[in-house]
Amino acid sequence: MERRKFLKSATAGTVAAAATTALAAPAIAQSAPKVSWRLTSSFPKSLDTIYGASEVMAKAVSEATDGNFQIQVFAAGELVPGLQAADAVTNGTLEMCHTAPYYYVGKDPTFAFATAVPFGLNARQQNAWFYHGGGMDLLNEFFAKHNIYSMPGGNTGTQMGGWFRKEIKTVADMSGLKMRIGGLAGRVLTKLGAVPQQIAGGDIYPALEKGTIDAAEWVGPFDDEKLGFYKVAPHYYYPGWWEGGASLHFFINKAKWAELPKNYQSILATAAAMANGDMQAKYDARNPAALKRLVQAGAQLHPYPAEVMDAAYKASNELYAEISKDNADFKKVHDAMMAFRGDQYLWWQIAEFGYDAYMIRARSRG
Ligand code: CA
Repeated sequence: MERRKFLKSATAGTVAAAATTALAAPAIAQSAPKVSWRLTSSFPKSLDTIYGASEVMAKAVSEATDGNFQIQVFAAGELVPGLQAADAVTNGTLEMCHTAPYYYVGKDPTFAFATAVPFGLNARQQNAWFYHGGGMDLLNEFFAKHNIYSMPGGNTGTQMGGWFRKEIKTVADMSGLKMRIGGLAGRVLTKLGAVPQQIAGGDIYPALEKGTIDAAEWVGPFDDEKLGFYKVAPHYYYPGWWEGGASLHFFINKAKWAELPKNYQSILATAAAMANGDMQAKYDARNPAALKRLVQAGAQLHPYPAEVMDAAYKASNELYAEISKDNADFKKVHDAMMAFRGDQYLWWQIAEFGYDAYMIRARSRG
């Protein structure tokens, strides 16, 4: 092409592109309004994996909207206390929160299914149920009664079963044991004779040190290490049978969600799903090194005795039957999740378990 002709056609192209931009600009402006939301986390900044999910989500939303949709993240206590995050969303004080729904079992035990229930699902199964097993539809039907629209926002994976000052060998050793543990798991432990305690994260260590409590559960190696429990309660049990795959959620005020333009709804849902997977990846990447450091520092690992697991499993089923008798929402979600669990383990015992079990043996052989 001649230089002159080329320049001419290039100029024409530029003019055409400019015209298109000029025509399209008003439409783009309409679909990208300035929206500014506030989110309270139920967690302190020191729990960087859990707290971090809100920042990961908010950054993705901001970047995808050229900064037009801003979600400002506040740590627990900055705007509202961590355990009142859901209330702030229900009453519309805040547009959004990031929380563990099982904190609200006092309002209704049905909340627990969004996080974890004793002998519930593992993290993979939990997400399968939420996204493709009807779980979120059922939960959002329930959450709507609290003006909440929810989407999963992270998972810790299977948690550890807590730190004990003394070894647990039989169910009888649970009798009178004062343990920091929340939600439905506390009610299960009551059936085994233990005395559950609700204690905020920062207060657990001194309570264990003084012997005000005998045991405490928190999350897993990466988070537990920061709180230093191994120094005062060295017996570290597994698995955390009450949190096979504890899920966090983003709660959004229902009316605020409905007001969002469709493209912002899509961007927010995409960012939340990304943050959901990102948190699990962080825990999986960081837990092994933390576990090694804990064991080097004196933590003693123990599996829960089979008789304790069996007694807890039985007590959990009794509790579910009791609550289901006069709570139709609980029964509906419980029955759906447990049916899903049955099919999941039918599948899980084949390839997943077969592969993991082989690889664990192969690793220990070296
Ligand atoms: Ca826990």
